[in-house]
Order: sequence, then structure tokens, then C-alpha cells
Amino acid sequence: MAVATDTYTEKTDEQKAITEMVRQFADNEIIPVAEEYDHEDKFPEPIVEQMKELGLFGVTIPEEHGGMGLDLTTYAMIVEELSRGWISISGVVNTHFIGSYLLMKFGTDEQKEYFLPKMATGEIRAAFSLSEPEVGSDVQGIKSTAKQVDGEWEISGQKMWVTNGLLSGVVFVLVKTDPKADPPYKGMTCFICEKEPGVDEMPGLRIPPKIKKMGYKGVESTELVFDGFKVPEERVLGGPDGIGQGFVQMMDALEVGRVNVAARGVGVAQRAMELALRYSQERKAFGKPIAQHQAITFKLAEMGTRLEAARLLTLKAARMKDAGERSDLEAGMAKLFASEAAKANAEEALRIHGGYGYSKEYEIERIYRDAPLLLIGEGTSEIQKMVIGKKLLERNRV
Ligand SMILES: Cc1cc2nc3c(=O)[nH]c(=O)nc-3n(C[C@H](O)[C@H](O)[C@H](O)COP(=O)(O)OP(=O)(O)OC[C@H]3O[C@@H](n4cnc5c(N)ncnc54)[C@H](O)[C@@H]3O)c2cc1C
Repeated sequence: MAVATDTYTEKTDEQKAITEMVRQFADNEIIPVAEEYDHEDKFPEPIVEQMKELGLFGVTIPEEHGGMGLDLTTYAMIVEELSRGWISISGVVNTHFIGSYLLMKFGTDEQKEYFLPKMATGEIRAAFSLSEPEVGSDVQGIKSTAKQVDGEWEISGQKMWVTNGLLSGVVFVLVKTDPKADPPYKGMTCFICEKEPGVDEMPGLRIPPKIKKMGYKGVESTELVFDGFKVPEERVLGGPDGIGQGFVQMMDALEVGRVNVAARGVGVAQRAMELALRYSQERKAFGKPIAQHQAITFKLAEMGTRLEAARLLTLKAARMKDAGERSDLEAGMAKLFASEAAKANAEEALRIHGGYGYSKEYEIERIYRDAPLLLIGEGTSEIQKMVIGKKLLERNRV
């Protein structure tokens, strides 16, 4: 769909070339097979292998560590294109991006040199783990702990909803190292846990079978059951100074994660729009294409406006972060609006497809099941509103 350009949506020549390449990749390699993988809930290994060749696991990793060294804005543009193809593909990259960010911003030199080159090629992929069976939004309430035993750390506790939990080679795990700390966030530490990808049982760690989900299939979400899992001292994120810093580190990463989820929302909203535009001009009712019935034209108008607004908010938040400006408020707004836009556009596109929208033969049926994830991950819409409201008041004190 053609869209207007302005200072936020304008692309450099490099950004144009990369997004065009990823769009073609989505059109040729992802969209034609997404339904098949979704219906079988199968990991899209051949697509992931091609993504490695394209360098898509190292987009934001500095060139000195083997990555492309691109900024958050370019990354957001790439994620939009991948999600337009299939949200689960961006899910394989999403947690990897958060892990790379944590290392780049907080890792010791040794941690960066050890992990980033392998992560840039996709040789190992990263996951992150905050959520637990009883705790999601209220991160300070997590119960998992790590204690020091004979110069090592031992992690115990149950983690939930770890995307890429089984196939990742490294997981950034947030636990309490001082459960009595007041406020609790000061007693939280992030550990870089290495594991064998695809292995579900190892000393101190068990990974139960993947959680069955309504959408966002193909990419696995798992529990991680830690019971005295040993982590060397040098795998505290940021080294000894990182002890007690885990909450702050993770919240920082989730802020860029919000731009990432917003970009995923734009991709989903875009694809729903494309499908609605096509179907509404092909399908006839009462003697004319349904697009010419005003009720449908208005739906298209609202979908297009929502899509454009979501893209602008997302790119604005990304560009502000790249420029070193404070962007917590903007990232929250982008995440809230773009994820709701994805959900709304998916539903409107499904309605426009009439009965066929309810059939598994049509792409929109999958998109309708995939979109709601975006309302939940990296902070629910309710939590975004809490963040946005708080930041607005902070910036506008009387
Ligand atoms: C497919 C999938 C993949 C995921 N991947 C990961 C991952 O890789 N790593 C990870 O750590 N987590 C992951 N998550 C977990 C996700 O981050 C949490 O589900 C999310 O943060 C919400 O937490 P919760 O499910 O415990 O809901 P709760 O926190 O229990 O919230 C339930 C409801 O109450 C609302 N609510 C809670 N507190 C408030 C409040 N103060 N005011 C108003 N409303 C409130 C919420 O908005 C929500 O509507 C994933 C989740 C899913 C579904």
C-alpha cells in the first residue's frame, strides 16, 4: 500500500535497500508457507537458516562483533517487514534482539566478546525470562532466586512463557539475589544462562513441552524449571557490579523492546490492510465490489488511518532513541497504539472477508489469532497506560 512520506517515515538509501530486500524475502519465503507452519505448529527452520545468511540476527550488533551495526529505526523497519510476513518469524528475532541489547549496553568486555560474534551470525540465539506462573506485570514480585555456593551461583525457581525457551543457546534470566531487599527491585540480578539448544533436561534445568497457544505458533514458548542450575560468577550480566542491577537493566531493554513490539504491530496492521484492500475489490455483493459499499469503504479508511498513525508513532519513538533523546513516553505510546491497531485491523479485515475470514484457507484467519499477542508481551495495554500516564504527569508537573 502506498503511504505518504514525512520526516519520520522517510528512509535513507541503505534503509530502502534493506527493507526492500526483507519485504521480498517475506513475500517469497515467508508468506507462501506461513499457514503450513502455523497449522502444524512447526518451527520454521529453513526460514531461520535463510535469515542467518541474510545477517538478520546481527542487525543491531556492532560491526566489530560481526554484526551490521544498524540503528533502532532501521531495525524497526526490518521487524515491520518480517511481521508483515508472519509474526512468529519476528518472534524468533525479538528475544534475540533484547538479549543483544542487554549485552551491548550492560555486558562486560569479556561477555560482549564471547557472546556477540556468535549471536551476530545466529550460531546461538537468545531468549529472555522474567515472567513466572504467578507473576507477569508485577515484575518485582518474582520468586525465583539465585544464591552463591562455592564461588558459583545456583538458580532455583519456575519461569513461564519463555519465547525461544527450548531452541535458544543463551537465556537472560531475572531472579532475586536478595529476596529481602526493600524496595524489591534492588535485590534483583540478571544472569546469562548458557544451555544446549533443543535439549530439555540438563543438570539443574528442565524444560517442559512447549505451551499450546491460540496463535503465534511455530516459535516455542516454554517454562524453565530451575533447580540448583549452576552459573559461573562471570555470567552475572555486567560482572560483579551487575549484582542488584537486573531489574533496571531489564526495564531498559524492555523500553527498546516496546519499539520492537510496536513495529511488529505495524507489520500485522499493514498485512491485514493489504488483504482487506484486495478482497474488498474482488468480492461482489448486491451487484458491486463490497469496497464500494460505504460501510466497507469506511472500514478501509479507518484501517489505513490507524496503520499510518501506528507507523508514525513507532518511527518517532525509534528515531528519538537513536538520537539519544528520552523516549520512554513515546515508546509506551507507540507500543500501546500499534498493538491495538494490529488487533483492530485484523478484526476489521476478518469482517470484510465475511465467512471466508473464518476459514483456515485464508491468511486473515491466522492473523486474527496472532494479533492479540501484541496486546500482552512487553507489558499489556493496561500497563502501557500506567507508564504513559505516569510519564505525562512527570513531564508536566504543576
Ligand atoms: C506468547 C507469549 C510469549 C511471551 N514471551 C515471554 C518471554 O519471552 N519472556 C518473558 O519473560 N515473558 C514472556 N511472556 C509473558 C508476558 O510478558 C506476560 O504474559 C505479560 O507481562 C502479562 O503478565 P501476566 O500474563 O502474568 O498477566 P498479569 O500480570 O497477571 O495481568 C492480568 C491482567 O491484569 C492486568 N493488570 C495487571 N496489573 C495491573 C494494574 N496494576 N493495573 C491495571 N491492570 C493490571 C493486566 O493488564 C492483564 O490484563 C509471554 C507471554 C505470551 C502470551
